[in-house]
Amino acid sequence: MESKKEKYRHKLDELVKSGRFIPGIYNYCDRWCERCTLSHRCLNYSHEQEMMENKNDPEINDIKNKKFWEQIRLSFEVAMDMISEDAERLGIDLDNLPDVEEPEQVESPAEKLAEKYGYAMHDWLKENHGKLKEKAEQLLVVYTDEKNAVKFADAWEVVQWYSFFISAKVHRAHLDLDERLNEEEDEYNMMSDNLGSAKIALIAIDRSMEALSVLYPEMKEQEDEILQFLALLSQIKKQVQATFPTAMEFKRPGFDD
Ligand code: SF4
Repeated sequence: MESKKEKYRHKLDELVKSGRFIPGIYNYCDRWCERCTLSHRCLNYSHEQEMMENKNDPEINDIKNKKFWEQIRLSFEVAMDMISEDAERLGIDLDNLPDVEEPEQVESPAEKLAEKYGYAMHDWLKENHGKLKEKAEQLLVVYTDEKNAVKFADAWEVVQWYSFFISAKVHRAHLDLDERLNEEEDEYNMMSDNLGSAKIALIAIDRSMEALSVLYPEMKEQEDEILQFLALLSQIKKQVQATFPTAMEFKRPGFDD
């Protein structure tokens, strides 16, 4: 009988062979799979779905549950096997790699601001959860304004979804940046990862700003705070644009083809 790991690997190989997926589509998406229009072309998503023994089991998605971590462990083990196989094919001995001096990573101002935004927004959403809920209900029940109620609830979700995502992508955009910028030749096109990450960070910033503009007129008492968040996002955006002026030209697989 197949072990869980073998089953995991076989299913992955089977899906790859089907040829119905867009290579690398999951690298520069916003990871919001429930809302993704291309989930049927995403290997990551399809594999995750296939591997869930019970898709409706809440424990699988619960970070505090053993089942969640078992799934993560399986994916790491399979990934390590695949890396070892590739290394062997290329004649690389993973146990005897030369020492490489890692350049010291200094956080850029954009990364610092994005991190600040993530934590501040997280706290704000927590503190104002009751008010946001009350407003959404008020729009729906008191004013029977279904369209605006949906718009408001959606904006709330958007702000929530991207709060830490922006920081993660701004950080990835700056990974090994100096080194890559100073390289005479980018043989493996490593810089594309910085540009793709910068682009999805900029998209997430724009969507968050748009969503905050929807919350703004409805949250009179929180106007100042929302304005501060908008100013912070605008600052991050300007800095990311200055560092990656061509980021928006990057073609994200699947989404910009
Ligand atoms: S491409 Fe879509 S389905 Fe795949 S990981 Fe990204 S958001 Fe999720």
